[in-house]
Amino acid sequence: MNAFDPKPLGERAQAMLDALASISADAERLTRLYLTPEHKRAADLVAEWMRRAGMSVRMDAVAGVHGLLSNGTNSPRRLLVGSHIDTVIDGGRYDGTLGVVAAVLAAEEIRAREIALPFGLEVIAFGDEEGVRFPKTLIGSSTVAGSINPSILDMTDSAGKTVRNALLRFGCDPAALESEAYRRENIVGYLEFHIEQGPLLESWNEPLGVVTAIAAQSRHRVRIAGEAGHAGTVPMSLRHDALAGAAEFMVMAEELAYRGERNSVVITVGELSLKPGAVNVIPGEVLLSLDVRAASDKARASAVEMILWRSRQIGSRRGLVIGVETVHEKPVAVCAPKLRAAISRGVASVTGQKPRDLMSGAGHDGLAMAHLTDIGMAFVRCRAGISHNPLEHVTLSDLGFAVEALVRTIVEVAKEERA
Ligand SMILES: [Zn+2]
Repeated sequence: MNAFDPKPLGERAQAMLDALASISADAERLTRLYLTPEHKRAADLVAEWMRRAGMSVRMDAVAGVHGLLSNGTNSPRRLLVGSHIDTVIDGGRYDGTLGVVAAVLAAEEIRAREIALPFGLEVIAFGDEEGVRFPKTLIGSSTVAGSINPSILDMTDSAGKTVRNALLRFGCDPAALESEAYRRENIVGYLEFHIEQGPLLESWNEPLGVVTAIAAQSRHRVRIAGEAGHAGTVPMSLRHDALAGAAEFMVMAEELAYRGERNSVVITVGELSLKPGAVNVIPGEVLLSLDVRAASDKARASAVEMILWRSRQIGSRRGLVIGVETVHEKPVAVCAPKLRAAISRGVASVTGQKPRDLMSGAGHDGLAMAHLTDIGMAFVRCRAGISHNPLEHVTLSDLGFAVEALVRTIVEVAKEERA
């Protein structure tokens, strides 16, 4: 058997990704926020590709574009494949769009090769995953999954425009929000191919990897209260320096993450502010953020528990009050073993080697779709793990591998469905 040549499919994918990348709010950088004129143009382009690929197309109540490649039978069962077409401000051209383009091309290939499927193949281009314009992420996938709260319609962007008005202007019917929820029994599963946004695949020298789970995540607000004082007159032995306590807290949290199983727990302090904040005053109060992610709910919970325990020790030794408040908590979304196996076989048949497993530290549409159905995700290698940045890059041949692996994964899922 001849080795698979990824170049032709890679070139087609790259041309489509470049076309999408040219649709931006600014000429100099790629910014395509939810329900903007740019989003509309991108959605129209994706819809046109879907029609050309032989799919019937519709737009849902929250501006998601759906293309259905019918299987020619009366079965209401569908396999969903998709990702998102919104970007962050000054983003890259592969995040989200790679999954949409790969899905459209996979459908096109399946039709061209006359591969019979026992279910309809539905490609979805979600409109909001990033949550940049409105204070909510995953609006598109949460709507399809039936877990959306209609109160999001009243959320406003920085200009004071509501989601409801933006949807109406876009040509959507916000009143139909809740009726968009899919029926669980009709859905085979949800597949998403996405760039890794991390450096593991590159370090392994592999084009594709199988995602085991989308990480459990929690965010906390930490307040460290000490005592402000004169930098010259308060002796060291009598100080309650909130910032020195914060430094110890941060190093402690970092050490905890290092001690966990390799790559299984990541802990980040990304924001920090202090009072009073003067060169000659001992800091009296520090506020900092804590972001904890892990491959399982248990690992995350035990990391947080350990942080609480150790912070009490730091507080009592230094005479500080350390309060940790949880502001956000998302359980792990585990990828279904059957879909993981299908992706693994699909990838292996293209690359010639069994792909490795990895966790997703970032949230994705699959997180919301897991409320509805089984999810399966593959990651595609991206240069230096850089994402949310114009330097985001995927090679032509990795694009070709991704599209072909998706085609073969869908074929593997079809085999399972028939069995
Ligand atoms: Zn994304």
